[in-house]
Amino acid sequence: MKLGTGLMHLGLALASVGGCGDSSQTTAAGGASHQGGSPNGGANQGASGPGSGTTNSGGGGATSTTSSNGGSGGSSTSFNGFPPEWPSGEACSAEDPIFVWQLTPDTYILRQSLCTSFEGPFLYLLFGEDKVLLEDTGDGGIPVREVVQSVIDDWLAANNKSSIELVVMHSHSHGDHVSGDGQFVGQPGVTLVGTGLNDVTSFFGIDNWATEIVPFELGGRTLSMIPIPGHQSAHVAIYDPKYELLLTGDTLYPGRLYIQNFGDYVTSVERLVDFANSNPVAWVLGTHIEMTQTPGVDFDFGADVHANERPLELTLDHLLELEAAVTAMGNSPSYQVHDDFIIYPL
Ligand SMILES: [Zn+2]
Repeated sequence: MKLGTGLMHLGLALASVGGCGDSSQTTAAGGASHQGGSPNGGANQGASGPGSGTTNSGGGGATSTTSSNGGSGGSSTSFNGFPPEWPSGEACSAEDPIFVWQLTPDTYILRQSLCTSFEGPFLYLLFGEDKVLLEDTGDGGIPVREVVQSVIDDWLAANNKSSIELVVMHSHSHGDHVSGDGQFVGQPGVTLVGTGLNDVTSFFGIDNWATEIVPFELGGRTLSMIPIPGHQSAHVAIYDPKYELLLTGDTLYPGRLYIQNFGDYVTSVERLVDFANSNPVAWVLGTHIEMTQTPGVDFDFGADVHANERPLELTLDHLLELEAAVTAMGNSPSYQVHDDFIIYPL
């Protein structure tokens, strides 16, 4: 629901942003002061997350997903895989406030350091030829705009472009996902989507909330915006067919799945499963990690050190496991511990 804090680096062209809390600058591959240790250790080992049992047809686990390149320069077909672990919050003097992971040449995962917020939320940055979409702005107290701008500047340079429109939207409106919004207000080339349900539906053109799935075009990369109320009433999921990613926000992630409206939540999970029946899903990516590497064991609420944290990535199997569990609860929602997530009705 909420977590917080961050630092950053990039997978291959590792960019690193300045020290904890202050302004940041991205340095290209060479100069980056990357993390001592693990976070980038496995940078280039194609997707080897916990999802070894992925059963989806199209995705096949996403190791080196290839898809037609829309032509925005660059080899935008390679998949770098996920970090074996994220900065843990154990050595804050060495952690940047936001850790930047380049998942593909046009897809970035940003994690706010646990040193700045125990929520440690994840943000996603997806580039198309015409627009770049930022999902979420974090829990506050971090230079999210500067970090995002530095990633954009590097991407523009790598793709021989001079500018691109930035659209900032949210998985949902809770504070740990929207608190950096103010940094984007009034910035040139930035469209900031509001956090209310009406803001979301009007911006994306969703006429029939919660049942209508709409496209959102980035240019050579058409996302689907999927309403999934339940954790929060204006929650949306994002599907990216290019890499078969399903971004599920706080609705499904390796942690405590707080459910505000259980009926809506079950319907939303069923909507995601229906969608996945006709759209290959290689990876299910949420916005927090609260599970340890020990199945069924989570960190204490508010823990700002996550030693031996479970990886972020989930698979379609987890979505199906969640659906089966919540539908089986019928009208009696209950706390239920699974290996990789915890169902937590409020
Ligand atoms: Zn949250």
